Amino acid sequence: MTRFSAILPDVRGRLSKARNLSDLTWLRVGGPADYLFQPADIEDLQAFLRDLPDVVPVFPMGVGSNLIVRDGGMRAVVIRLGRGFNAISVEGNTVTAGAAALDAHVARKAADAGVDLTFLRTIPGSIGGAVRMNAGCYGSYTADVLRKATIVTRQGDLRDLTPEDLNFRYRQSDLPEGAVLISATFEGPSGDPDDLHARMEAQLKKRDETQPTKDRSAGSTFRNPAGFSSTGQADDVHDLKAWKVIDDAGMRGATRGGAQMSPKHSNFLINTGTATADDLEGLGEEVRKKVYETSGITLEWEIMRVGDPLKE
Ligand SMILES: Cc1cc2nc3c(=O)[nH]c(=O)nc-3n(C[C@H](O)[C@H](O)[C@H](O)COP(=O)(O)OP(=O)(O)OC[C@H]3O[C@@H](n4cnc5c(N)ncnc54)[C@H](O)[C@@H]3O)c2cc1C
Repeated sequence: MTRFSAILPDVRGRLSKARNLSDLTWLRVGGPADYLFQPADIEDLQAFLRDLPDVVPVFPMGVGSNLIVRDGGMRAVVIRLGRGFNAISVEGNTVTAGAAALDAHVARKAADAGVDLTFLRTIPGSIGGAVRMNAGCYGSYTADVLRKATIVTRQGDLRDLTPEDLNFRYRQSDLPEGAVLISATFEGPSGDPDDLHARMEAQLKKRDETQPTKDRSAGSTFRNPAGFSSTGQADDVHDLKAWKVIDDAGMRGATRGGAQMSPKHSNFLINTGTATADDLEGLGEEVRKKVYETSGITLEWEIMRVGDPLKE
């Protein structure tokens, strides 16, 4: 469990041993990380990564809104950014935000200044997670507005990445192995602040009506299956909805232990209060199997599953 302890560098931030991760994820499940590091500032993060032996795996974590951390936890140093990495500044139509800033705060601050990043308002993650996952909704994606991302590499160097470097795809981007995003710069279209705030209120209301926003979830569980264009090529028009094929397989409301496919939106996997990561992942796999049996479609997970199962 603590096999790295002799080789960990000194830090100014907080380094916690065998730190349980469940309270740091939206689904409230997950075992301990060997270590959780919360750096004091950029220099602290750089020095730590520079002096950390290459053999030690590093996992940067946002606010855990797209993660199932398995019950056995993570054999790694999990790095979670907090204060010192959450500043937001706006200059003209350019918004720069620390990786720990919440998407919702960035959207609101941008709107105050007449910059339209409204699509970020309903995504409950941090800017680090938004860039890594190319977060998006209502037809807009992080990739559309990102101009620059700054990382600290696994070797401790500061580097700027362009959108091309990040190679954005649906809910994915490329980061160098072990790199931690520390900030991102966006450029959004202009808008009237009152209109932008009104639009965000309407989006929140729509979410509350259609999604289990009061339950513990990690958003959409599976990607919408790719459709087929008129040329027969698979594309990502996403005309088939994951919730529909889950309904057709009779899995809306299905349970396993404390996990449930939400009765309100069948593509949301929820922790009803007592779920383990194993319940959640196991139920997700049952759904994939049933959907394959009924429609021949293989659902792909959108939620990331990380860490180890609990040993018997
Ligand atoms: C109710 C609900 C609704 C949601 N709706 C949407 C939606 O509409 N659209 C959408 O796209 N997503 C949605 N999500 C999913 C989730 O919010 C996004 O994927 C979000 O971008 C994840 O951000 P996070 O900070 O929680 O990242 P985490 O879940 O903590 O991590 C996700 C990935 O990002 C990486 N990461 C995080 N921070 C950093 C960093 N600083 N440096 C390097 N890598 C990092 C992690 O290593 C991991 O690979 C929803 C989730 C919930 C719970």
